[in-house]
Amino acid sequence: MINIPKGTKDVLPSQVYKWHYIENVARKTAEEYGFKEIRTPVFEHTELFSRGVGETSDIVTKEMYTFLDKGGRSVTLRPEGTAGVARAFLENGLQGGALPFRAYYLYSAYRYERPQAGRLREFHQFGAELYGASSPAADAETVAFADRFLKRLGLREISLQINSIGCPECRAKYQDALRDYFRPHLSEMCPDCRVRFEKNPMRMLDCKVEECKKIAAGAPHMLEYLCDDCRAHFEEVKRLLSGAGVAFTVDPSIVRGLDYYSRTVFEFTSKAAGAQGTVLGGGRYDGLLAQMGAKSVPAVGFAAGIERLLMVLEAENVPIPEPRGVKCYLAGLDAAGREKAFLLAEELRGKGISCETDLLDRSVKAQFKYADKLGAEYVAVIGESELLSGEAELKDMKSSGSVRVKFEELAQYLSKR
Ligand code: ATP
Ligand code: MG
Repeated sequence: MINIPKGTKDVLPSQVYKWHYIENVARKTAEEYGFKEIRTPVFEHTELFSRGVGETSDIVTKEMYTFLDKGGRSVTLRPEGTAGVARAFLENGLQGGALPFRAYYLYSAYRYERPQAGRLREFHQFGAELYGASSPAADAETVAFADRFLKRLGLREISLQINSIGCPECRAKYQDALRDYFRPHLSEMCPDCRVRFEKNPMRMLDCKVEECKKIAAGAPHMLEYLCDDCRAHFEEVKRLLSGAGVAFTVDPSIVRGLDYYSRTVFEFTSKAAGAQGTVLGGGRYDGLLAQMGAKSVPAVGFAAGIERLLMVLEAENVPIPEPRGVKCYLAGLDAAGREKAFLLAEELRGKGISCETDLLDRSVKAQFKYADKLGAEYVAVIGESELLSGEAELKDMKSSGSVRVKFEELAQYLSKR
């Protein structure tokens, strides 16, 4: 037997209702905020991600699934959703349409990571993107949207941390201060951090190596280096969030893993998720679209990991409504009964009533056992006497009571219950 590739998972039919639950809450909340779904390809030209996500990010340096196709072009399975949405926005000329542009996605994403609980190579994200608004209200609305989504799922032990990482101007001064801080510690830090020191010292704050984390804990904070405009923007975001009743703490250590962020960054974390505690992350990325060759378009967005949400829902014991079984199982007692059951089942389905009937020539006892496993609400028994009288014996599986219902009234009877 060939096994599933490492870091991927099957979603089995018995479990898929949990995914539908999250997806339904995601779609409903997105639509309330005026977002419509966007779908873009699973693979894109490799340059889209190396330029869009950023040459110094962990994703681009280590995690991408990149290969040459048969035509010799380098393509990459999307490691995240934003770059593809930004490409679609520009390529379809949507900056000429109604702004702000709002789109959400429910996507699979691919990263070559070391698989562990909450960290997969194929995972799924719910993400949202808002383009064309630079106001603090756009940041606050995006954070409030994410907050409402998580609360609506039933999650209670999630906390929100926000930070500002400034604009390219004020960040340049900060990068200098970071280099001054890290320089004397460089020999104790990991090889990746030594590269980051040269290319993008802010990435050093996001290192997952214990020794580096300890050193990074004492680094200066971006908040002390914000220019007046960035500071005013951040103050306004916080004021709006407080006004909207969205609880947060300011955490100066949040820098986010992708290179395109500016100003507001945020993360929702759960203690219940253990080491992989971040369930949703996002921020403002005013530089991204310009980097992709457009005139500058301000942007803000977030992405949540569906598998991590599932973990946290389970850890918090949030009840997810299980789907009902089929409405009616039609059991045939003999060949003629079976045929009638087959025809009736087709008729009932045509009227929107879910049903199943025997396909394995099983005994009545075995058919009842199967109907019970299915969670069928009713079982209609059809044998010789039922065919003669034109009525099915309809058993209510919950109460065990039974009634006789004319074949032609079965649909009406069942649809009322
Ligand atoms: P982490 O710091 O945990 O690696 P990240 O900063 O790389 O996360 P983002 O790129 O912001 O994550 O992706 C948004 C969300 O997608 C994360 O908060 C997480 O819930 C989920 N996610 C990211 N990588 C994985 C993965 N390999 N497996 C499962 N979920 C993931
Ligand atoms: Mg990561």
